[in-house]
Amino acid sequence: MGDNKYKKKHKELGLCIECSRPAAPFSILCFKHTASHYERNLIYDQAHKKERAIKTKAAKLKRKAEGRCITCGGPKHDGRKDKTECQNCTEKLYFKPRILDENYTQGNAP
Ligand SMILES: [Zn+2]
Ligand SMILES: [Zn+2]
Repeated sequence: MGDNKYKKKHKELGLCIECSRPAAPFSILCFKHTASHYERNLIYDQAHKKERAIKTKAAKLKRKAEGRCITCGGPKHDGRKDKTECQNCTEKLYFKPRILDENYTQGNAP
């Protein structure tokens, strides 16, 4: 209640709602607090990324155990046990690094 009034007043005066110092342009926070909020969001984002990665890994392991392609869950084209992906996914994975190679490491290929 009182907090809202406090924040509103600070917004009107162009001051940071966290520390009362002059706020950054187009922001309700000063540079320091803009940065710290950004950092917090980044940490939150990364934590969720980790969570997602764990889920993806679990799904891949399940597919592997069932003998399916670990990427799309489809049937593997050949019965080769050394391959974890179907032909489609293998080709796509092969194709992607080639594109990155050309864009980012021009002339620096090993
Ligand atoms: Zn501040
Ligand atoms: Zn696949």
